[in-house]
Amino acid sequence: MNSIYERFLTAGQQRHRCPVCDRGFAEGTNEHQHFEAQVRQTLERVPTMRQVSDRQVEQLGQQLQRLRALREPASELARLQQGRRVSQATRCSCGLGI
Ligand SMILES: [Zn+2]
Repeated sequence: MNSIYERFLTAGQQRHRCPVCDRGFAEGTNEHQHFEAQVRQTLERVPTMRQVSDRQVEQLGQQLQRLRALREPASELARLQQGRRVSQATRCSCGLGI
């Protein structure tokens, strides 16, 4: 499957236009060479960017699992704290602690 950058390169070569902003450039001009160089440079970086993204997805997946494991204890803690606040708020203000 061709990546989007490969399709950009082909479209730029065939139409002599930037496929993103539609700016025209004649074949062999500096603009055309610059466009091709930029797209080729990006294409070369894709495998590395993919590896970095895959690692991030894996790390975020692990973080999500840890957070999901904490969801139940966190809601239990919030429930207990809420109960404590309620019992303190309803305590008698006369100093007898009832
Ligand atoms: Zn453009």
